[in-house]
Amino acid sequence: MKITGIRVYQVDLPLNKPYWLSGGRLKFEKLDSTIVAIDTDAGITGWGEGCPWGETYLPAFGGGIRAGVKLLAPALIGQNPLHLNQINRTLDTALPGHPYIKSPLDMACWDILGQHTGLPLYALLGGKYQDDVPLHSSVSTDTPQGMVDNVRHYRERGYKIHSAKVGGSDVDTDIERIRMLLADSPPGDVITFDVNRAWLPSEAVTVMNSTADKRAFFEQPCETIDQMRQVRELTHHNIIVDESLKTFEDLVLIQRYNVAQAIGLKLGRVGGLTKAKQMRDFCVETGLKINVEDTGGSAISDTAVIHLALATPVEFDRASWDCSQHHSVLTAEGGYTKADGRATVSDRPGLGITVNESVLGDPVGVYGA
Ligand code: MG
Repeated sequence: MKITGIRVYQVDLPLNKPYWLSGGRLKFEKLDSTIVAIDTDAGITGWGEGCPWGETYLPAFGGGIRAGVKLLAPALIGQNPLHLNQINRTLDTALPGHPYIKSPLDMACWDILGQHTGLPLYALLGGKYQDDVPLHSSVSTDTPQGMVDNVRHYRERGYKIHSAKVGGSDVDTDIERIRMLLADSPPGDVITFDVNRAWLPSEAVTVMNSTADKRAFFEQPCETIDQMRQVRELTHHNIIVDESLKTFEDLVLIQRYNVAQAIGLKLGRVGGLTKAKQMRDFCVETGLKINVEDTGGSAISDTAVIHLALATPVEFDRASWDCSQHHSVLTAEGGYTKADGRATVSDRPGLGITVNESVLGDPVGVYGA
């Protein structure tokens, strides 16, 4: 089988409500998603999606994906999309780094492999460990009471794992947010306080040590792995690293230096399903829990996320985030479904989706045939 052409689409995802991160430092109202279709000489088309969370938060942006795919398309056309490791090596040779550009291309090749073999992606990624996987909420920075109300809203819909965005410049307000959210949580609830790199180590140590409640996890409290290593040595709560995890080497360092007890594995950040699978397997071998996620997107990337989460051993699969909960743009039918705070996928081959090409509009880039 050979790749004959690549089509690129741009889709705006207006958020249902403005979303604040990091103590109000960052506000988002719309995401810029890029959807790719890879066509083959076997008549199979695979789909993938890449969507950074906003333009100014990550070292990634929507226009960058589209410019990168234009650059990479000549290297991919004529290659066999079923040979995933070779495809990734081709991408890394043609353009070092820039993993977020490669994730939608890798995802589309996995979709082709699934359609070609007649197997759903979860089967190709390791097999299904449970019928459905837990989702976690995503609670924007707000007043302490506003965040309590938002978590209650999710809890009423079955969510037991919550991700609350903290990390303002005001340490006292963060301590109050954490105190009120934990006080309002029933037994069995777990809350991730996602700091999005906002604290210095001194602030992280002060805030984290303000509570003894072991249901609190702290995600990416500081900017760097080394800063979080300092925090690890002076605190007792579970730490999750997501934004500092971009390469396999980062993961090895995080584990070797005991920086974290869980990771946030985001497809766009690490370069796609192929590399995320390698990291998932390392975590399973070495004892790290995993949140399987992407950096943003719609039904296409959310469905890929749920396939990988289903193929992760239950005790390692902590929770997943579906970005589609924040907007109303349905780019594909037949993808993941959710109920009571849990999600699953169908047994259809590949991603198992039918893309709504009318939602995508005309392609903004067409390469090859
Ligand atoms: Mg995070």
